[in-house]
Amino acid sequence: MLRFGAAALVGALLTPAVSYAGDGHVGPWTGLADRERSVDQFLRQAIDDGAFGVVSSVRIAGRSPVLDCVHATHVVRLDPVSGEASASLDLQLRANGQELDGVGIVFDEGLRVTAASADGRDVSLEDVSYSPTRITTLRFATPLPTGETTVIHLAYEGTLACGAFAASAGVVCTKGESFGYFPQQAVLPSFVDPRRPNETALDTMTRDIEIHVPANVDVVATGEHVDDIVRDGERVSRWVIDQPLSRTVGTYVLTGRLGHVTVRDRQVPTTLFFPAPGSTVDSRMAAWSVPVLDFLEGLAGPLPYKQSLTLVRLPATVRDPGTASFGMTLLSESYTRVGELLHEETWAHENSHLYWGITIPESNSHDSRLMSEGLATLTQLDYTWARHFANEDRDAYLARRFVPMALDLRNAGMVVPPIQLGLNDGDPSSMDSTRFMLWAYFRTAATLDHLRVSVGEESFRNALDDYARECRWIGCDPRDFQRMLERAAHTKLDAFFDRWVTANTRPEVTIDFTRDESGASATFTKTDSQPMTLEVWLGLEDGRRETQRVDLQGTSTTVQLPTTGRVRSVSLNPRHDVLVEVHSAVRGDLDFDGESDGLDLLACTRLLGRKYAGEPGSGLWNIDETFDPRCDRNGNLRIEQADLDELASNFGSLKPQ
Ligand SMILES: [Zn+2]
Repeated sequence: MLRFGAAALVGALLTPAVSYAGDGHVGPWTGLADRERSVDQFLRQAIDDGAFGVVSSVRIAGRSPVLDCVHATHVVRLDPVSGEASASLDLQLRANGQELDGVGIVFDEGLRVTAASADGRDVSLEDVSYSPTRITTLRFATPLPTGETTVIHLAYEGTLACGAFAASAGVVCTKGESFGYFPQQAVLPSFVDPRRPNETALDTMTRDIEIHVPANVDVVATGEHVDDIVRDGERVSRWVIDQPLSRTVGTYVLTGRLGHVTVRDRQVPTTLFFPAPGSTVDSRMAAWSVPVLDFLEGLAGPLPYKQSLTLVRLPATVRDPGTASFGMTLLSESYTRVGELLHEETWAHENSHLYWGITIPESNSHDSRLMSEGLATLTQLDYTWARHFANEDRDAYLARRFVPMALDLRNAGMVVPPIQLGLNDGDPSSMDSTRFMLWAYFRTAATLDHLRVSVGEESFRNALDDYARECRWIGCDPRDFQRMLERAAHTKLDAFFDRWVTANTRPEVTIDFTRDESGASATFTKTDSQPMTLEVWLGLEDGRRETQRVDLQGTSTTVQLPTTGRVRSVSLNPRHDVLVEVHSAVRGDLDFDGESDGLDLLACTRLLGRKYAGEPGSGLWNIDETFDPRCDRNGNLRIEQADLDELASNFGSLKPQ
């Protein structure tokens, strides 16, 4: 399907039309989102299905979890072709804040625990098959008292069934000679508090992972590579996660005949792996990795790895769109269908999660995705501009990228909850894919961009530097970022966060101005008295643009705006548009020059017949949108003769007196 055929007919596009084979009614991006929240969704489904017995349905927010996993040592013997596996696990854990009954361990339903013990206490086992996984609950005979630590020791074995999840397209694992795919919950288990499975605050842990496979099998796993030793027909591959990683972030084992390309110019050995013999996309991805990783390190500081960084091109057959973990970024080859530009941009998004969500985690990813998906989405847009569109006005570029996302959000109306969920706003794992996209990706990224225009790029940049440094390896949340922004910008941001982070509003602002000797005198009107800071654009008659940040107080604010030339127009930076509805005081004055005239009509006449046809939730993939919502006077997502007639009827309109 050629998605932007209609736009191409307009003939005004400089960039090539993008095509991809559609994914039904949602963009390919939603698949990525689904992987990034698959653990949440799995747990929610398991809770709903009673796999943990009766547990409270109340979302538990804020505080750190009672189950505090500290360190896991995994030794796995795996025949990746037959799926036969035997493994041992030593898991150090602590009871945090309350006593702890035990721990739930989730892996492939073909495996069974064969021995279990805990240091200093007796244990019992319960086992339920929750197809395609098995949930084994290890209970302490006497609960672990608050603050105390123990180590549990498990042996488990069997033949991996590698079944499919009923609720999604995902599989537990894929066995095979050429490529074996074993994500978390296959042979490396995930851990959950069986009494509080819906506890979602951050719990971090470290791991040692040792994988034994036949000597002729290649293997990579999550973590930094320690070594590979081949002896007696066996390969022993050791990996370490030596920094605190969220226990819900995926740990992967990939096996088979793996090809690899070294990413050049990296201080830390960085390698792209793929199923041998590889394809043309591998050299592209390896080449993109150089500017992508350079860009990210420039943004958030050096990556924390010393031994290795593993990049993976996943085959489409494993039905995993990709994700990031400790020292590992994975992306499905199915993203080739979005075209090279967006494929590269998606690669930037996934790799940015090495910071946003991994190295710099959120304290509770159920409460907000502002500082993970929001930052990753903003980062991908920034990357593409810097890499491919730096000769284009940055404000115009970013504003243009946000137009389809804004239309998506406007169409969804108020069904999208606030960025920072309150206790009554429901659980993000229950949102459908489109709504989740709008909540976790579009609204967050748009709010961050609006925020940096409001506080100024330099203050935002300084606050983000602080965030990347101070929140490294500890969980932070939007309020932490607010404090850092306030420090950097020397201003209070409660009003901003109240409007756009803990609530979901799009306030209206009207601009009126008169030209004078020194520039312009402008009045900004809004309906409430909460403060708001906006970047005002002063268009000059000679074509130059001057900008000034204006603090709006009360319902009406009049300011003198001095300029170095005669003023033609007074408007806002269009990057505010997603979250602020801005009008000229003169009806039909779309270019903010204080008159409703032929120029306003002309801009829209060029778009006559255009309609906004984006699938819900696909706005981020829409890189060439030329639809101008201002021309769509009646808001029906089409620019029709009726819209032009309405505009023409305002000709000669005067400012309301
Ligand atoms: Zn993401």
